Amino acid sequence: MCLLIEGMNALSEQLREQKTINREVNICGIGLHCGQKVKLVLKPAPVDSGIVFKRTDLKGQPEIKAVVDNVTSTRRSTTIGHRDISIRVQTIEHLMAALRAFNIDNLMIEINNEELPALDGSAKLYGELLTKAGIKGQKKTKKIFKIKQSIHLKEKDTYLGLFPSDVFKINYLLKYNHPIIGTEYLEYIFDKDSFVKEIMPARTFGFKSEVEDLKKRGLALGGSLQNAVLLNKDGVVNELRFDDEFVRHKVLDMVGDLYLNGPIICEIIGIKTGHSNNYELNRHIQALKIKNGWGE
Ligand SMILES: [Zn+2]
Repeated sequence: MCLLIEGMNALSEQLREQKTINREVNICGIGLHCGQKVKLVLKPAPVDSGIVFKRTDLKGQPEIKAVVDNVTSTRRSTTIGHRDISIRVQTIEHLMAALRAFNIDNLMIEINNEELPALDGSAKLYGELLTKAGIKGQKKTKKIFKIKQSIHLKEKDTYLGLFPSDVFKINYLLKYNHPIIGTEYLEYIFDKDSFVKEIMPARTFGFKSEVEDLKKRGLALGGSLQNAVLLNKDGVVNELRFDDEFVRHKVLDMVGDLYLNGPIICEIIGIKTGHSNNYELNRHIQALKIKNGWGE
């Protein structure tokens, strides 16, 4: 891991009203990795409470706050939890991306299993759920961190760079040695409407041979053509929603993962990165916040 930080003042601040949802809503489905049924209930939450998951199936209904310090795994998806590994919530990134889009700061998410439902493999249904719940402004401000320094993270053939910007912008380069994916590049300036229409419907993807291997290892047990784009060695088994659906999904994952740091404004360049790189960047963003006295 190579790290270089440039610049003097790390962060400045913008303010907006905190937000939660108007009314309780729920959704059911199957976890992508665990393959088990799960019900998710989203409830309004008070100011400054943050985004909190509650495992209603476990004794004492333990709560896990969606913050960088609680990340316990970035293998295939982002998991948050306690030191006791049975208290965890897996694959939070698509819901987190939807919450970023709708500017939700405070939310109680009750879940009766260890993994969020895969739904259709994208964040589309979470967007519809939040629209149904309605968004409610709360009478307290929220800090939006505007990054003033640049950070460069290089690991093997991946690169993740963070740069000061007046808008939240992601540039992502995806490269796979596959006839359909090949090289895809997306330059995307974040705004709610385009995120909901152009990024949130992009589905997760997997290779048929890899999925079979994952299933043997007890992963992707819920994976099917209903919740992922499946690739074989020559092409795509099911139909794509966008020609560049793969790179759009990588942007979706990144926005979701980075929301563990709350709303930020910066420009990001990602090359062949995934959840573990996003976590590493989150650690550095968090360190900048602490160093500059912003806290959580
Ligand atoms: Zn994803």
